[in-house]
Amino acid sequence: MEYEERELILELFPGTSPDLLPIGEILYYRDEEGRVVILEKGPPELKLVLEPLPGSPATPQVCEACHRHLSGQAAGFFRHTVGGDPRHLRYLVLCQDTARCASHAPPGRLREILLRGILS
Ligand SMILES: [Zn+2]
Repeated sequence: MEYEERELILELFPGTSPDLLPIGEILYYRDEEGRVVILEKGPPELKLVLEPLPGSPATPQVCEACHRHLSGQAAGFFRHTVGGDPRHLRYLVLCQDTARCASHAPPGRLREILLRGILS
């Protein structure tokens, strides 16, 4: 249903900004290198890769995806480029346990994080 809506909109209005499209299926997982991936199935497929930074925060944090309060150990710092510009990095705190985070994080919130990374 959503897939077809997206297709139809893009057919009628090619170049529509992704933030105006109906939300597609969101995947949120760690890849084999430990990076966090947020992917919205297309068309067009939208993908943001977040690089983990070493260490964990010294104080309790709130995860930006699921908004749960975390001990420093359960949280991690991650970063991603904004609009593909390597000089423009955004840092955020997320659960280290991405699978558990995914079961609490609203898809709309994950999409916000994704779009802030790919739209400049
Ligand atoms: Zn989380």
